[in-house]
Amino acid sequence: MSAPLIDPFARTIDYLRVSVTDRCDFRCTYCMSEHMTFLPKKDLLTLEELERLCTAFVRMGVRKLRITGGEPLVRRNIMSFFEGMSQHLGHGLDELTLTTNGSQLERSAADLAAVGVRRVNVSLDTLDADRFRAITRWGDLAKVRRGIAAAQAAGLRVKINAVALKGVNDGELFDLVAWAAAEDLDLTFIEVMPMGDMGDGTDGTLRLDQYWPLADLRARLAERFTLTESAHRTGGPARYFTLDETGQRLGFITPLTHNFCESCNRVRLTCTGQLFMCLGQEDMADLRAPLRAGIEDAPVEAAIRAAIARKPKGHDFDYSRQRVAGQMSRHMSHTGG
Ligand code: SAM
Ligand code: SF4
Repeated sequence: MSAPLIDPFARTIDYLRVSVTDRCDFRCTYCMSEHMTFLPKKDLLTLEELERLCTAFVRMGVRKLRITGGEPLVRRNIMSFFEGMSQHLGHGLDELTLTTNGSQLERSAADLAAVGVRRVNVSLDTLDADRFRAITRWGDLAKVRRGIAAAQAAGLRVKINAVALKGVNDGELFDLVAWAAAEDLDLTFIEVMPMGDMGDGTDGTLRLDQYWPLADLRARLAERFTLTESAHRTGGPARYFTLDETGQRLGFITPLTHNFCESCNRVRLTCTGQLFMCLGQEDMADLRAPLRAGIEDAPVEAAIRAAIARKPKGHDFDYSRQRVAGQMSRHMSHTGG
């Protein structure tokens, strides 16, 4: 083991999110344009390189690894990467998990469970097949629901992440909550962030007027339920409320209206080996060069340490005054959300 990663604000960095591909089989309107240009394949780290980098992070104290994308399960041979990383479970790594759109879960769920994945986050914003198609452009809701069922059958705990979109899925709020309760799924709502393609809406892209503050969503829930703030924490940005009437716990991720930066324990690695120290800042460190410089890991570890020493205090997203300040040109599929 190397010394733990501690940033200038005394936060211990023990959570790494890794985007293993920028490619995806969906084209969610809030995430990418329909005619998205993907990175040249030659720029991508190989799975072996990704494994070497992630192993260095585990050596340096990362205890939780979340695999994301793009859509992680569309990367060829991705199971070999999961298998490789699972060797660290119980040896530094506490949890290996992923965030997926669920399109490939039906065939991958059992393999994921077999290598030690215990939980999976599935992104799903609506239970209406036509609306699902409109949001994701290419997605098939029935297939995703079969994927969720396969994950549950394999013994994986499934959490649904739903992006809150005014005028799109706000009418389904109570249906989503009831469905999650009936299917024994955890449910977290995410406030939409000003990432990637902020179109004018004419081609179905994300519009500023789709921003639905979770405070409003909670107020809507309070019309039918008594919400009690829960002390439950997962070390992430989510805050939890319990619906007293049902006992159901809901998560809320409000990056724009609630600042969670002070407890941030994470960094993000892209599929090209760029390390982003903050989702809302442009600063990043290139880890591909030290990685490809040779088989020695010391330069890689030094580059990681130098990057953590630059981790900023927080981000600058702000939707106030109907203007998007601090907007990022980077796509969510690049840094992995
Ligand atoms: N493809 C996988 C998926 O959709 O779960 C993993 C990558 S996706 C970029 C990770 C998460 O980011 C998803 O839950 C998605 O809903 C969320 N996301 C994408 N764009 C977003 C945005 N502009 N604001 C908030 N969440 C966003
Ligand atoms: Fe693909 Fe996930 Fe982005 Fe949707 S949110 S386009 S599923 S990467």
